[in-house]
Amino acid sequence: MPDRKRLQVTIRSITDLELRGRRVLVRVDYNVPLDEHGEITDDTRIRASLPTLRHILDRGGRAILMSHLGRPKGMTEELRLKPVADRLALLMGRPVGYVRETVGPAAERAVEALKDGECLLLENVRFNDGETRNDAGFARGLAALGDVYVNDAFGTAHRAHASTEGVPRLLPERAAGLLMQKELDYLSGVIENPQGKLVVVLGGAKVSDKIGATRRFIEIADVLIIGGGMAYTFLASRGEAIGKSLLEEDRLGFAAEILERASVLGKSLFLPTDHVVAESLDPDAETRQVGRIPDGSMGLDVGPESRRQFVEALLGAGTILWNGPMGVFEMKEFAEGTAAVAGAIADATDSGAVSIIGGGDTAAAVNALGLSDRMSHVSTGGGASLELLEGKTLPGVSVLEAD
Ligand code: AMP
Repeated sequence: MPDRKRLQVTIRSITDLELRGRRVLVRVDYNVPLDEHGEITDDTRIRASLPTLRHILDRGGRAILMSHLGRPKGMTEELRLKPVADRLALLMGRPVGYVRETVGPAAERAVEALKDGECLLLENVRFNDGETRNDAGFARGLAALGDVYVNDAFGTAHRAHASTEGVPRLLPERAAGLLMQKELDYLSGVIENPQGKLVVVLGGAKVSDKIGATRRFIEIADVLIIGGGMAYTFLASRGEAIGKSLLEEDRLGFAAEILERASVLGKSLFLPTDHVVAESLDPDAETRQVGRIPDGSMGLDVGPESRRQFVEALLGAGTILWNGPMGVFEMKEFAEGTAAVAGAIADATDSGAVSIIGGGDTAAAVNALGLSDRMSHVSTGGGASLELLEGKTLPGVSVLEAD
């Protein structure tokens, strides 16, 4: 892990708080994927919270957990947190209380009944519309349940909601949890203190989601690799044929500006030089490898020559940041570019590079390839990690700064 002391992170850590006998209100990110039967299909986010929870409970704290799940408009039976409480209990190997309210008398009674070293999950905070409005009354209701506040929900730290921003304002003793701290250490380490050659790999569907990050990385990275759907707007901006591939016409000017900046700064910028194309995303559609994209086709993955170039560009990297798949990796016909980049990053990490994987889709791809354990850090936050890397202040983080 990068050395924290060298970083400009001035927020307090949970390890600085006295926890014994205290009601510790913890914002966690249990926004887990559910299938059509309401079963949790991936519990990575729940597992990621365990070090902080164990830290609190082992020290005799009383943990009161707050999270959102999905985007409910008012109370929504399918988005109750009961299955999350059950899974958490299973993973912790100890009972986890669950109360079907977020604030008010039932929640207060459940908190009063907690003993030292016990844990309680409140209901989905987004059942109350005061959460996203950062309503002062709702924040007061939540804050009344705790003595100290801990934020371990990096994935929602870019939002100023009641549970991430309003509540900590009301509790003077507030700190980052262990997961939040790890995220900030790795991500701010990339910007402030990258080790060795910094290679940034960007992909995914949209240029518009990554404008700030691309602007930033063209300045600080040694090598920038752009693949995935977003690459086609860059290729089109320099007049290349892209057929029916993804194009954001209103971003052509931005793409041209980045290409120009790369040449002014003498930076290595890699775009795909060949492609795996199909006429549609239909699984039965015929796929082809091409150098030039024919009119009726769309580029859905980077081709073999591009993969070779990208893998080579990753050799000798000291720090690697990757956000966004190289193709439509959800379909095996278009998954090879993403797999090649993931494998090269895992190899580079084995050779001593620090690798940081950001973004839900990229993390899912790395997980599916069984490579997560070979990466230095797989971030739990997509939007939040990009905003932090762009240099934006995250409201859920700045509110934790020591007064
Ligand atoms: P993002 O959320 O921006 O990281 O985008 C992730 C999505 O981009 C994934 O669902 C991919 O299927 C999609 N994607 C990647 N490459 C392409 C491409 N060449 N054409 C269309 N979609 C793509």
